[in-house]
Amino acid sequence: MGLNALQQAVGKDIVRAPGEIDLARHLKDLVQQAPAGIDLVGVAYPRTTRDVSDILRICNRENIKVTPQGGLTGLVGGGVPVERSLLLSMERMRRIEEIDAEAATMTVQAGAVLEAVQNAASEAGFFFPLDLGGRGSAQIGGVVSTNAGGNRVLRYGMMRDLVLGLEVVLADGTVVSSLNKMIKNNTGYDLKQLFIGSEGTLGVVTRAVLRLSPKPLSVCTALCAVEDYAAVLALLRQARQGFGGALSAFEAMWPEFYHIGTEGLGRQAPLAPGRGVYVLIELMGADPAADAARFEAVIGAALEAGLIKDAVIARSERETRSLWAIRECPGEFPKVFWPQLAFDISVPTGEIGDLKRDIETALRSRWPEIQLVFFGHVADANLHFSAKLDADPMPEHEIDEVTYAAVGARKGSISAEHGIGFSKRLFLHYSRGPEELELMRTLKRALDPNGILNPGKVI
Ligand SMILES: Cc1cc2nc3c(=O)[nH]c(=O)nc-3n(C[C@H](O)[C@H](O)[C@H](O)COP(=O)(O)OP(=O)(O)OC[C@H]3O[C@@H](n4cnc5c(N)ncnc54)[C@H](O)[C@@H]3O)c2cc1C
Repeated sequence: MGLNALQQAVGKDIVRAPGEIDLARHLKDLVQQAPAGIDLVGVAYPRTTRDVSDILRICNRENIKVTPQGGLTGLVGGGVPVERSLLLSMERMRRIEEIDAEAATMTVQAGAVLEAVQNAASEAGFFFPLDLGGRGSAQIGGVVSTNAGGNRVLRYGMMRDLVLGLEVVLADGTVVSSLNKMIKNNTGYDLKQLFIGSEGTLGVVTRAVLRLSPKPLSVCTALCAVEDYAAVLALLRQARQGFGGALSAFEAMWPEFYHIGTEGLGRQAPLAPGRGVYVLIELMGADPAADAARFEAVIGAALEAGLIKDAVIARSERETRSLWAIRECPGEFPKVFWPQLAFDISVPTGEIGDLKRDIETALRSRWPEIQLVFFGHVADANLHFSAKLDADPMPEHEIDEVTYAAVGARKGSISAEHGIGFSKRLFLHYSRGPEELELMRTLKRALDPNGILNPGKVI
């Protein structure tokens, strides 16, 4: 009944029955998998906002649940169906509609792939700074709905800071168009922020106005080895002072992670292994000669003072890419560190070394052999780590529980940037109080009274 009504309203080329398509690619993200044998209504591939609105109006009327899907590069199962639902794939809505050079904005459909947006900005002489390892598949709608972060949050902010306007379709099919292009606009509630980071549970993003930045004219990158986390903090202080707002990345990698990113993947290590922590530092500026001189002076002074034990500065784009490839090796974990449990947590930057120690102690006291690799966007207070799951089944839920209890004890966040999806739902209480959770449920009830949007996710 539901499938027929949908096909009649929007067409059989837009709403497909499960048997007509390759379903497998819609049933998993980078890490999470739908329950075996899950029953699905079908998959919708809308082309326009009008299609999305028609689909949701009918689903709301017929009580059909809907799972919005972007590029499925998420890590917490946000786009993976866990209940009978219609999958709403945004992959056909990928148009880059407009670049407004005066406003420095780009208007895109939600299915536009992040890398295509970065390239279009660059061709127009601008820079879209949000960047992450899944850039070749992640869509703007997914990046908005998870409030993604990535490598340059330190300078440009998270997705929340890069969106000026949104068009969203509510659960009942109402189109809310807030395609604002102005940086200043205080006319009542900032509605777009409700949807950014809500993981498809409050509305479906169909278009976005993105904020563009001037294209950097120089990029300086260095990999530095330091003794311990105290030295990472001291180096961060010097980098902030020395580079000011031009500091665009400050990424920490602990030795086990560095080993995987280099020799573990068959690449030559640019710095000798075995140091306390490796830090990737990036500066983006507008004056190539002066920026390079300033970069070398700050790194050189830290070396001379003994704060940095060893360092390499990239001399070409190829060298820059190979330094970043070490940091981006989690994209290649399936080859060398798999299966694994991935964590994305945050506490204030000064406490990250202590939190890492708390977690290692807690996990190793239960599972002495557990293999852990730590890395992260530490200047953004964000620590990532992965735990390898042995051939003997490891108790995933207990590893989660031990880790999130350690995060909760420090009043940290169990999800710095990946969201909650279905895999972190049970642990949300470690980071959010009962009043916060109740307010989230109130918002959900107000915007989606029949509970059709992204069932089984977030709250
Ligand atoms: C190698 C690699 C590295 C990564 N690094 C980072 C990183 O550094 N920082 C970071 O933040 N993330 C990172 N990620 C995670 C991932 O890329 C982001 O979460 C990304 O934002 C997901 O986009 P997507 O289009 O793939 O969304 P999906 O995974 O398809 O969906 C994510 C969530 O958004 C919802 N959604 C998707 N589209 C819409 C829409 N149009 N309207 C409403 N809801 C929608 C889904 O229902 C789901 O809840 C990485 C992923 C990979 C594979």
